[in-house]
This record gives sequence, C-alpha cells and structure tokens, in this order.
Amino acid sequence: MDIKYVSTTCPYCGTGCGFNLVVRDGKVFDVAHWQRAPVNGGKLCPKGRYAHEFVNSPDRLTKPLIKKDGKFVEATWDEAYDLIAEKFGSYKPEETACLSSARTSNEENYLMQKFARAVLKTPNIDHCARLCHSSTVAGLATVFGSGAMTNSIQDISESKCIFIIGSNTFEQHPLIGRSIIRAKESGGKLIYADPRYTPTAKQADLYLPFVSGTDVAILNGLMQEIIKNGWEDKEFIANRTKDFEKLKEVVMKDAYSLENVSKTSGIPVESLRTAAELIGTSKPATLIYSMGITQHTVGVDNVKSTANLMMLTGNLGKPGAGVNPLRGQNNVQGACDMGALPNVYSGYQKVTDEPAQQKMKEMWGVDRLAEGKVGYTVTEMVNILADKPGELKCMYIMGENPMLSDPDLTHVEHGLKNLEFLVVQDIFMTETAAMADVVLPAACYAEKDGTQTNTERRVQRWKKAQDPPGEAKPDWQILCELGKRMGYEKQFAFESPEAIFNEVAAVTPSYHGMSYGRLDPDGLHWPCPTEEHPGTPILHKEKFAMPDGLGVFSPIEWKPPAEVPDAEYPYVLTTGRVIWQWHTGTMTRRSWSLEKEAPIGWIEINPEDAQELGISDKEVVRASTRRGSIDIPARVTPEIIKGVMFIPFHYKEHPANRLTHNALDPIAKIPEFKACSVKVEKIAEV
Ligand code: SF4
Repeated sequence: MDIKYVSTTCPYCGTGCGFNLVVRDGKVFDVAHWQRAPVNGGKLCPKGRYAHEFVNSPDRLTKPLIKKDGKFVEATWDEAYDLIAEKFGSYKPEETACLSSARTSNEENYLMQKFARAVLKTPNIDHCARLCHSSTVAGLATVFGSGAMTNSIQDISESKCIFIIGSNTFEQHPLIGRSIIRAKESGGKLIYADPRYTPTAKQADLYLPFVSGTDVAILNGLMQEIIKNGWEDKEFIANRTKDFEKLKEVVMKDAYSLENVSKTSGIPVESLRTAAELIGTSKPATLIYSMGITQHTVGVDNVKSTANLMMLTGNLGKPGAGVNPLRGQNNVQGACDMGALPNVYSGYQKVTDEPAQQKMKEMWGVDRLAEGKVGYTVTEMVNILADKPGELKCMYIMGENPMLSDPDLTHVEHGLKNLEFLVVQDIFMTETAAMADVVLPAACYAEKDGTQTNTERRVQRWKKAQDPPGEAKPDWQILCELGKRMGYEKQFAFESPEAIFNEVAAVTPSYHGMSYGRLDPDGLHWPCPTEEHPGTPILHKEKFAMPDGLGVFSPIEWKPPAEVPDAEYPYVLTTGRVIWQWHTGTMTRRSWSLEKEAPIGWIEINPEDAQELGISDKEVVRASTRRGSIDIPARVTPEIIKGVMFIPFHYKEHPANRLTHNALDPIAKIPEFKACSVKVEKIAEV
C-alpha cells in the first residue's frame, strides 16, 4: 500500500486553513492535521476535517456532456470544444458573458477574465463576490483606498475589544474564532451585534440583538456617544483623516441619539452605551463584519460606516485594530484580485484607464480587448436576461450555481432560459448545469496545483493529490484549450499553473514579488511589490492608499431596507449559513459526515411570533414573499429576535432564494439577501 500526505489549503471558507490530504494508492481518502499550517496551526472545523469526502463521490462529472433533444449525451472533449468555439465565435462580443468562480484558483480566475477580455472581447465578466463582498470592495476603497481586510487573522488575538457586527464568526469562520478566544483570554472584550443568538453570541461579553437593516443607525449612534464623551482619537483624526466635521454633522443628529437608535434597532439604550464606551476606550479595538453588513441595498453605506467608526477611534494601521471583512468563499479575495470583475483587471487596475488597457494589450499580445468599458455585474446580467431577452445570448459559467445562490430564483430561472447557449463547467451536475447546453467536467481542488488568497490577503498553495476522475480536467487546462481553439495559441500556451502565476505576478503590482517558491509553506500577504518584500499583514500603517494618504470620513444617513414589513408581509426575513453546510451544498451535501448533521432546511421563528401564528416547533409552514412561497419546517427558538425570521440558503428542497429580493445596492449591485418582508402561515390540513 502506498500512502502519502499532501499539504494543501481548505476549499471551503475564506479563512484559508491548511491540512494534509491523505492519499492511499493514488486516491484521496482522508484529511490529516498539518501542525505547522500557517493560519490554523493544525486545527480544523468540521468542514475542513471532512473536506476529502466529496472528492471521490460517485456523482462527480467525468465526461463532457452536450444536450441533444433536451437530454444530455456524452461527448468527446474535441466535440465539446469545437461546439463552444463555434457558438461563442458566432455572437457579437456584447452578447456574451462569463461568470468566473471564487471556488477555483487564482490562476483559473486570471485565465477566465483573460479569456473574456482578450478572446471574446466582452467586458461582461463577474463572479459571486458580487453577492457577498462587492460592497466591501467599493466601500473600503472609498474610505481607505483599498477594499480588503486591513489586518491579519493572527493579529485579532492582540485586540482589547472585538466588535463583530453581521458576522457569525464562530460558525462561519471557526478558526478565526480561535484568535478571538485568545484575545478574550488576554482580557479583550467581545461585543456582538446580530438579529440571531448564534454560537458567536454565546461567546460575547455584550450581545446586541437588532432588527435586520438598521446597521447604519446603530453605527451612527455609537459614534455620537463616543464623540459626546470625548473618546474619539483626536490625534489620529487630525493627522490621518479628512472630513471629520462632515461626519459630525450627520452622526450628531437627534435621529442618532441612543434613545432613537434604540427605537430603530431594538437594542436597549444601556447596551448601546456600554458598547460605545468599550469601543471608544479600548486600545486597540478591531471591527469584524461579514455579509450581515454587505448584503443590503445600503451595503456600501454600511461598510463605510464601519470604517468611519474605526477611524474615529484611531483603530487603523496597528496590531489588534482594523476593519476586518471576513470573506466567504475560499478564494473570493483572489478572484477579485485576479480581475474577475467587470470594472478591473488584476490588481484592481481599472478597465477604463487608458494606460492600464495599453499595458494589458502589450502583456497579452493582442491588438484589441473588450472596449475599455465596464461590463455587467452578475445581478445585472440576470436582470437583462429576464427583462430584455435577446440582449445577452451566450454565457459561460465556471463553478457557480446561480440557480440556488442568487436572489429571486424564479427570476433567475426565467433569465437563464432566455439564453441561446449556456456552458457550465463544474465538478457536479448542479441546478444551473442541468439547464446548460454543454457541461464540462472539472477537476476539484485536490486534483490540481494552484494558489488561492484567503480573507487576510495571504496567497497560499494548492497541491495536487490525485488525478481527476474519468476525463475531468483542471479549469485552467480547459480555458487554455478553448483560448487556443479560438485563435489565441500564444496567449494560452501555458504548461502549468506556475507558468500562469508567473504571468499574474508580472501584470499585477500587488503580486509582483510573489512566486511559487516564495509561497511555500507560509504564503505571502499582498501587497508584496518586490522579490525581497516580506508581504504586508497590516495595511495603512503610515498612510492610507489615497493620493494624499488620508482616510476620508463618509457621513451616512440611515435608510431602511428596500422592502419593509407591512400588513400583508409582516416579518423581516434574513438568510445565512450553518456550520455543517456550504453555500449551495454541492460539496457538503455529498459529504456524509456533514450532511447527517443538518440534512434539511428550516425557518427560525421567535416563540412569541410562533404563538401569534399558532405554529409549533417542527411544523411544516408556508413562507411567502412577493417573489414566491416555500413549505419548510419551523424551528421555534428564542435565539432569533421577535419580528425577524431566518432561513439557511443551502437547501434545494427548501430554497430560501425563492423568497429573497433582488433589489440592489446602487453602487456595488449587491442584492439585499439580509432583509425582505415575509409572511408565514399554517398549511391547511387536507
Ligand atoms: Fe476550512 Fe474555513 Fe473550516 Fe478553516 S475554518 S477548516 S478554512 S471551512
């Protein structure tokens, strides 16, 4: 028997834990702890511990499939490539669109945006960061000049006050929870604001339950109390920021007194006062957020407000401080860094910037790219497909499943059905792949080399542990072959992921100093501009990434969600995840150790609301919004605030996104997953 251990990086959340894949006779069969893994020191959450279980699932796609007369028929790679090249070649560039994937490597995301821009000449390239942290990229870039986590995971353990708002960290990024525990063991206090009494709330010194969608009011109220008590960091404000007076004009309004914020948010005045004092007087303090902040029609406003609070208290550019958005998927940071976005090339170089266009043309050896204009976002693509049939005709989706992950699924389904030609490249037959004209079988994380960038901007290696099943291939090889067949032999002549990474490093300023040799074993935090540079775990130490180096206070008024409860739909619906499952469940639901812990969906209802509705625990109820209805078991629990209900979005049998609203933030175009209006009824007995 031949046994080997291959150290690699977890394919689930953005924490980026390392582990060993245990390979027996050429097949992955277990995960073993990798004690010197740089982020997690060998510890794993359940998803990481069982990250081998889906790899050799019998459901893996193993051959290219082409739909004929409504049924998939196995095809050769040549047949599939030729059909895709012919079809994509027959449409105008603006009629085509590509979705890249935060599940795939940096190299593959880089190639997908290169394929879209250099081969198809379409500006329409995006990926699921649109649905999770596009408001972070836009919001933090406006305030600090850079849209990423400012500090490192390790660094959180040095904090004296950790304020978490809109992130169930202990359940969704459990290994980041370890840094929080270390901070608490050294006397740090944890403040937690969330509508649900989650596992994170159980660790908190102060819990602030609030009504979804009132984040800006809460943050403004905390800032008012800090300023009233003189707890703001006057030196930091004077030397490192501008527009403080503009901020004051807004946050000192009566609407943001603690009494009024308490009425808006539901948080008791005394709790708000204690939180303000802790944040205002603890040095250093850090703020952690996730999709509870970003997934709103005011997502960018929410993000800017978190940044205002931490600049006000001088908590930037030092250990234990910062504004720390926790990215959801394993490589969502990297997919953004690689330019799988409609407005930027890799390294956030703007597509509308003439010198950047010129540089990419020269580096890629092409005369023309997509015409230097910003393309459509995922959410705009779906709206156009549904509402303006014929404008977008042909789409290539790599490793995404919008038929379960996107808001208002009836609308998404309607839109995708309007496509004339759809290619889906994935490891399983997803709900989206089932609608495709061609399905391409891809290799999973355990079957290829590459890199991914975790939430703290640390670029780490993936290492191949086994061959892909059947005829499945790594995404990078598929993209290279298609690029070559469409006439771009030289531009896609890569022999390995390392060769692609070397091109990434050459064209991406924040990755210039990186190479595979330097990434082993600890990875490097960007920016890493030269080969001698040690990487940058803490951003904004001396100055912000703005032309004048100053952080910009952005005064924000609170606005309610796009849809608020009324007589017909009297409750707020919010959605999220559970520790045992992952996104649309394609991997975790094929992992028996995880699936057995949480095999069905549910709707959480506060006992008082349940009593008013005459609903008992475990009873199947009908949840309806203006978009649709689902029948789903009730979980009656005091762990959710009265007036708010929660559904995890993983389950195709109880698809939360049948109900959610596709109202968008006007800047980031992120949908409002975290607040819409819902009614819940007993199902009449027959
Ligand atoms: Fe994987 Fe995230 Fe769990 Fe770490 S915390 S093992 S990266 S899912």
